[in-house]
Amino acid sequence: DDITLERVREHVWEIAPEGEMEVPARVLASEALLEEIGDDDSLQQLKNAAHLPGMQKYALAMPDAHQGYGFPVGGVGAIDAEDGCISPGAVGFDINCGVRMLRTPLTYDDVRGREEELVDALFDAVPSGLGGGGVVEGSRDAVDGALERGVEWALEEGYATEYDLKHCEDEGRRPDAKPEYVPKKAKDRGMNQMGSLGSGNHFLEVQRVTDTFDDGVADAYGLREGEIVVLIHCGSRGLGHQICSNYVRKIEQEHGELLDRLPDKDLAAAPAGSALAEEYYGAMCAAVNFAWVNRQLITHRTRETLADVFDAVDTDDVELLYDVAHNIAKRETHEVDGEQRELFVHRKGATRAFPAGRAEVPAAYRDVGQPVIIPGSMGAGSYVLKGGDRSLSETFGSTAHGAGRLMSRTQAKQEFWGGDVQDDLAEQEHIYVKANSGATIAEEAPGVYKDIDEVVRVSGDLGIGDKVARTFPVCNIKG
Ligand code: 5GP
Ligand code: MN
Ligand code: MN
Repeated sequence: DDITLERVREHVWEIAPEGEMEVPARVLASEALLEEIGDDDSLQQLKNAAHLPGMQKYALAMPDAHQGYGFPVGGVGAIDAEDGCISPGAVGFDINCGVRMLRTPLTYDDVRGREEELVDALFDAVPSGLGGGGVVEGSRDAVDGALERGVEWALEEGYATEYDLKHCEDEGRRPDAKPEYVPKKAKDRGMNQMGSLGSGNHFLEVQRVTDTFDDGVADAYGLREGEIVVLIHCGSRGLGHQICSNYVRKIEQEHGELLDRLPDKDLAAAPAGSALAEEYYGAMCAAVNFAWVNRQLITHRTRETLADVFDAVDTDDVELLYDVAHNIAKRETHEVDGEQRELFVHRKGATRAFPAGRAEVPAAYRDVGQPVIIPGSMGAGSYVLKGGDRSLSETFGSTAHGAGRLMSRTQAKQEFWGGDVQDDLAEQEHIYVKANSGATIAEEAPGVYKDIDEVVRVSGDLGIGDKVARTFPVCNIKG
């Protein structure tokens, strides 16, 4: 545990290459955050990640980084898509875990005093927890449609609007999806989970906008102080998990030579251009579509519930602001050493943060930069940022994805008692939380997370993602 970090400049720390590292490792953090990041295995994991062949510039840790499976959460690795590799562990098990934000016509005044009614109605309407069952009765055809066409499938089935497609990353459809490479067992697992939060860290949170910082951009995003928004955080459920584990195993077996060059076998990677690289990429993109559909189906239920509970709300009034992925690898073109290069940008617990002008940003936001949605915790603020001008040169167009954990789930359950956390939030903060189990609330207690304000401050100082608005929880359902 003797890792030497050199200060490059404010908030930028570097671990020089040693041994077989392809590139240096870089941590983007204030001193306070760096201390927390150094408390677990994430720095060692970042050094390990820097061994992946074809890694460009540096293996990166965002200010919210913490230890993960092989590759740190809050990690970004941009790897040459022609001569490098792709690593399922650097994407993560919950492929396209992500968040979306919905705007509503409600204000905090409309909801005050009715929080418990609202949280009960949402809890009943949105499937959550470990059990099976989703918003739709899954069938083979439904799963295949979702895998192939993403939110377009949901539109055909009446669960989405054209507006939703236009305000989702990639218009809700990854064209590179190859459902034929999704193992049957993964499809089976996805079948009865279409439109479900899942358990643990996933949530649906009703929030109020407390501050806007950049009026022009807040206008472009349609955010105003006092208004109610909804945040939905979930991923691809058992389907994504099964894809990840199947391909990790296959890649370990097939590409032992590459594996031998890596200090941690959880980083197992398929060489670019190999059959398994193509298959994993196609299957992963299909899981990305599935996760978008998952969030879309929950959006549909949320719309119905809000319209049910509040006379003044029609389902059409609840609009998608944007949807971002946390766990993904994407083929993107970036400038490296003055050259345009095709890269697999792995973002694991990291958010794309493209600035104004980048072609991938939806037309509605291309002049201001993409929205970046950063949840804090069930007891703290969350933020909407815009992609920063320096993100392309500093982080391959990325920033943090949350506050990031301070402690493991096991430790959290020793420190916190779910019922107490729940009572304190209601009494002290007027935040109403409903969960499938007290253990979940303890594992996700506000105190298990780093300081979101500090993470967002560092992102802004670095110019990779700039504050547009802050929100605060009103009520929350936990998976
Ligand atoms: P992850 O994708 O790593 O599970 O979580 C992303 C981030 O969501 C965490 O780093 C944390 O900051 C945030 N978060 C976790 N639980 C909640 C919650 O209940 N409400 C909000 N607003 N944020 C949360
Ligand atoms: Mn997830
Ligand atoms: Mn996530």
